[in-house]
Amino acid sequence: MSCLFCEIIAGRVPSRKVYEDDQVIAILDIYPATIGHILVLSKKHYPSFVEIDEDLAGHLGLVSKRLAFIQISNLKADGVTMLVQEGIVAGQRAPHFVLHLIPRKADDRLAMTTQGKDISRDELEQGLTEIQKGAKDSAAEDKEPSSTNDTLAEQEKDDDHKNEENEEEEHEDNENEEQDDNNILDVIGELI
Ligand SMILES: [Zn+2]
Repeated sequence: MSCLFCEIIAGRVPSRKVYEDDQVIAILDIYPATIGHILVLSKKHYPSFVEIDEDLAGHLGLVSKRLAFIQISNLKADGVTMLVQEGIVAGQRAPHFVLHLIPRKADDRLAMTTQGKDISRDELEQGLTEIQKGAKDSAAEDKEPSSTNDTLAEQEKDDDHKNEENEEEEHEDNENEEQDDNNILDVIGELI
């Protein structure tokens, strides 16, 4: 089955492009929640957020931050909602990573809330423990030198998938940062 976003990236489906570099493309949402609602897409097909390459994740964060700044400075947005829907249960509609940047106004009446329901203290504590354990393991993996055999053995045992991801091709994004600035300046006029 073809992916609509891959078709857009390939130029076979028209879109209103606001930004593009070698790894990322940003277009206007055809069903916008507000004026200037941007979709930031990875050019390479990743089915979801947690599966994207870690270097690309950093680059996506940088591009999104700059576009959000433009929404505030040029569209006079009062704020921006940054939204990633991971999985169908979270509202993900297409199997291609998308980050939404939705300009907000004080009176836009857009219903977006993270207000929680009643959850028992025990359940909250259990969730906290699990997240802290995962975060600690993740931080430890970043700190440990990968040259020691013990460390490598533990990492392989702990997370086979992560090792597979690390073997994937790497992108050279740093040298494009200056170009990013110029591209973003070029698109300012298209947003307003
Ligand atoms: Zn795709």
